[in-house]
Amino acid sequence: MLPESSESSHIPHMLRILRFGRLALHPVRQFVGIDMRERFWEHYPLEELTAEEWEALCDGCGQCCLLKFQDDDTGDLAVLGVACELLDIHSCRCSDYANRQARVPDCERLTPQRIDEFRWLPRSCAYRRVAEGRKLAGWHPLISGDPERVHRKGVSVRSFAISHRDVPEEQLEDHIIAILPIDG
Ligand code: SF4
Ligand code: SF4
Repeated sequence: MLPESSESSHIPHMLRILRFGRLALHPVRQFVGIDMRERFWEHYPLEELTAEEWEALCDGCGQCCLLKFQDDDTGDLAVLGVACELLDIHSCRCSDYANRQARVPDCERLTPQRIDEFRWLPRSCAYRRVAEGRKLAGWHPLISGDPERVHRKGVSVRSFAISHRDVPEEQLEDHIIAILPIDG
């Protein structure tokens, strides 16, 4: 469920982007025994979530870990079907979440205060949905109780992403899959 493509001009430099929402473990297993408020995403703004609730909100799609180029003039983003070298593509989880910012310095941290800066997040992203007052999708693990559904529904990058480790830098531009206009 990637953004619709549109025409764009050149795409000069690459960003590698992230948010603070990824878990190293399967979300449901991770949160067994952790106290989260009933349907917290409907009752509290992002700034009022506990650390556990914030982490649980990530649907595990992996879309934010796809590499992106940004047009210097328009700010538009070109999304690649190439994932950060630390993304475990099958699980769509960061393989070294604790050390990610040391290993991938341009992996950015999403916080409730910065949500407006992250306009490149997919419309399907749970953080963006909550920030925009929309409901979580039926396939979200917090709704379905099934973390595999995000993959079966084709929302995650599991079925198509390839690792940056396997793509030479000079071939990256061949892997653009969508252009994401960034307004204002
Ligand atoms: S895009 Fe997907 S993986 Fe990334 S923060 Fe949003 S829900 Fe989590
Ligand atoms: S370092 Fe981890 S969290 Fe950051 S972009 Fe890469 S895979 Fe995603």
